[in-house]
Amino acid sequence: MKPFDKCPVCGGELVEKDVEKLLKGGIHVAVLKVRADVCLQCGERLYSAETVRRFEQIRQKLERQEVGEFQPLGHSFHVA
Ligand SMILES: [Zn+2]
Repeated sequence: MKPFDKCPVCGGELVEKDVEKLLKGGIHVAVLKVRADVCLQCGERLYSAETVRRFEQIRQKLERQEVGEFQPLGHSFHVA
């Protein structure tokens, strides 16, 4: 099921790809691999409604520090 046939930004062609998505919630950041339709022309990424819901759930867990089920992946640093 595709939400779009063409890129809604530029009308370019979309290809399904595995992409890395960075999610931030509170002080935490999570990286996850998801399927997305990526525009060949402008690089716009389109996610399914299901994937967007998953992002929301993960963000909420990050905000509530419910990160026990996530695998640690190094440290994040803030550079002023
Ligand atoms: Zn595009």
